[in-house]
Amino acid sequence: MNNNNQLPKIIKLFNFAKNERHFRGEYKISSIIRISEIARNIEDIAKVDLLFYLENNKTPCIKGIIDLSIILDCQRCLEPLPIELKVDFKLAFVRHEHQAEGLDSSYEIYVTREDEELLTIDIISDEILLSIPMAPSHDYDCNLILNEEKIVEEKSENPFTILKNIKIANNGKE
Ligand SMILES: [Zn+2]
Repeated sequence: MNNNNQLPKIIKLFNFAKNERHFRGEYKISSIIRISEIARNIEDIAKVDLLFYLENNKTPCIKGIIDLSIILDCQRCLEPLPIELKVDFKLAFVRHEHQAEGLDSSYEIYVTREDEELLTIDIISDEILLSIPMAPSHDYDCNLILNEEKIVEEKSENPFTILKNIKIANNGKE
């Protein structure tokens, strides 16, 4: 019996699945490729739980959960945007796409070559990326607030802007 259930660096797919290995561990966000480039809180931790098993006695699968609080840049106002992620995923690894036909639709299908080396960190990184919204932004109209702040700044910096605004306002009345 192997009692070392720390997350493995390299995934031995068939070995782990056949033995129904269960791994739990943590990654610092700074060590997760691609995620470290977009997160502001790279010193924080992602918790990872991975269970390996064989589906239909032949297809190696991973059922995983990733828990992390990530702080991204809001794509509208560029201010910090905290997001709570709980990523639940099921992966099935096949050699050919037709092998996936017997699997239910909750599986994401990975087509792998026999000699392909799978790194745990790559899979974790993929799953986190997939769960992040395409253009993350605050759920309130942060852009509106930003524009109002900008106008106030412009007014105080440039007196002519104020004159222009007054002129426009007068024209509007006539
Ligand atoms: Zn925003």
